[in-house]
This record gives sequence, structure tokens and C-alpha cells, in this order.
Amino acid sequence: MKINDSNIKKTIKYLNNDECVAIPTETVYGLAANAYSKNAVSKIFKLKKRPRSNPLIVHYHNINQLKKDCELNSVFRRLYKKFCPGAISFVLKLKKTSKISKIVTNNSNLVAVRFPSHHLTRKILKEIDYPLAAPSANISSSISPVSKQDVIDEFGNKIKFVLEGGSSKVGLESTIINLVGKPNILRLGGIDSKTIYKFIKSSKNNQKKEVNVKMPGSRKLHYSPGIPMRLNVKKNNYDEAFILIKKRKKKNKNYFYLSKTKNLKEAAKNLYKTLRKIKKNRYKKIAVEKIPNVQIGEAINDRLLRASKNEKFN
Ligand code: AMP
Ligand code: MG
Repeated sequence: MKINDSNIKKTIKYLNNDECVAIPTETVYGLAANAYSKNAVSKIFKLKKRPRSNPLIVHYHNINQLKKDCELNSVFRRLYKKFCPGAISFVLKLKKTSKISKIVTNNSNLVAVRFPSHHLTRKILKEIDYPLAAPSANISSSISPVSKQDVIDEFGNKIKFVLEGGSSKVGLESTIINLVGKPNILRLGGIDSKTIYKFIKSSKNNQKKEVNVKMPGSRKLHYSPGIPMRLNVKKNNYDEAFILIKKRKKKNKNYFYLSKTKNLKEAAKNLYKTLRKIKKNRYKKIAVEKIPNVQIGEAINDRLLRASKNEKFN
């Protein structure tokens, strides 16, 4: 896709004026605002109807920008070199001198940070002199958006601007790893946990002490289409949309394929798109075939499980 500079300029102008706008990332579309501005980040919480107790991930262009705000350790530096920019977020200690608004972290001395790889968003992050707080661009607890149209479907004219950046390549949120004390993964996501842990094990690691970092704001019901969902199903009922990991020979209007050949990366990219499609088609029930719990399949299963934990229906 050709970079449309006038749209990038427009996005930056809104951000400089303390507005929040939607930007494309490789995980999902984000609702972005100046992380140093209380006024700007307050608008994110209001628009998303997100509880203030749920802190935001802060996005940077590179490690040099990050140094101003966070204490960096050696594990972080190695993971940064290996996986960034990409679908991984790190929980780090804030520096006392950091200008990040307290609203972003819910007054914690820890912050989650990420370096997105989408070329348009990288262009913006390079250009501005503040990092961007950017949770997914959807109303709290609903399905994350993976295209410009998804964001418009969520917010309509309540949002000032959505930067077009194609459909999100990964299609699931980032993996979050806590690097305060012994590294531990707090949320499964775009980069699979085994790959990360294997890499940490293979490199020297002097952080042995475990620090129990909680996932503030993490609830069971999340990423939800608001439709009851049965998981690990072999055969669907006649009135259920049936999500399948692999294309079947038999045709059926209720079948929704995540991938043609059981490719888990393709399945992850299609998951939220498929849930939105099923919702638009007004299905009242969803059945899901068993998804292999390996590689990014782990994150797919995590999201499906949370989406299915809707108290109202259980
Ligand atoms: P998202 O909803 O994708 O924006 O993810 C944000 C999640 O990152 C939050 O729900 C938290 O669980 C996690 N997170 C953000 N900031 C922190 C923090 N300071 N400490 C621990 N977890 C955090
Ligand atoms: Mg989200």
C-alpha cells in the first residue's frame, strides 16, 4: 500500500491537539492519544467506556524514546533485539522522571510498553515527540477491530479520525510479558509463549526472584461477541454458526472457516473478522471446533474461552 502522507499529517495534527484517533497496528487497530497528556488519555477511557482501573499499553518507535520513561534491564534489551518491533508488550518499572500520565498506569509504578511494526504507525511514532497510549479501538469488552471499517462500526461519528492501514496482519492482541523480577507472561498473544520462554532460557538471565505482577483490569468476559458460545464442538446444532479451523468439503451456510488448511496464523488473523461476521448475520448461538493448543493456537483458545465466559448465558 502507498503511504498517504496527507493522512499521516492529519493523524499527527489530531494527536498534537490532544484528540484520540484510531491507528492501524499489526495486532489490532488502536485508539491512540498522547500518553503524556492527561486530557488526551482521559478521552480514550471515555470513548471506550473503559474502567480507569484497566491501564493502557504505551507505544514507542524505539528503545531510545523509551529510555526517558522506563528502567531498562538486560532481559528487556535481549527481547527487544529479538522480537521488536512486533506483537509483544513489556511490563517495566517507570522512571520517577517519566512524563507518562498517571491515568495511563492507574497510578502504578509499572507500565506496559510496545513497539508496533505497522509501517504507518511507525512513521507517526517517529515523527511525534511523545509516546502513544493505545488500547484496542473498540468499546470495552467487545471484539477488537482488525480493519478501518470495524472501528467505524464500533464508534460511528464519535471518533474524529481512523487512519486506513489495511487489515491487521496478526489479528490478535500482543503477548504481554512482565519483566519486573523473573520474566512471566501475563497475557498470551501474537508471539507464542514457548518461543519467548525458550529464547529467555537460552540467554543468560540473572533475574531469579519472582515478583507477582497482577493483570489489572483483566476480566474473564472479554473479546466478546455477546453471543453464547460452545467450544471444542464436533458437530453444530442447526441454529448455530459453526467456526471451523479447516475448510470442509461439505457446504453449509452455517460454516465459517478460520483457515483453508489448518494454518494457525491465518486462523488468528481471521478470528475477530469471523466473530464480527457472525454477529452481523444475526446468529444467536456459536459453536467452535477444537483449535490445536499450540503456537498462536494458544492465544486463539485464550480469546475464545474469554469470549465464551459470558455470565448472562452460562
Ligand atoms: P489492552 O486491553 O490490549 O490495551 O491491554 C492492556 C492490558 O495490559 C491491561 O488490561 C493490563 O492487564 C496490562 N497492563 C497494562 N499496564 C500494566 C501495568 N502497569 N502492569 C501490569 N499490567 C499492565
Ligand atoms: Mg482491548
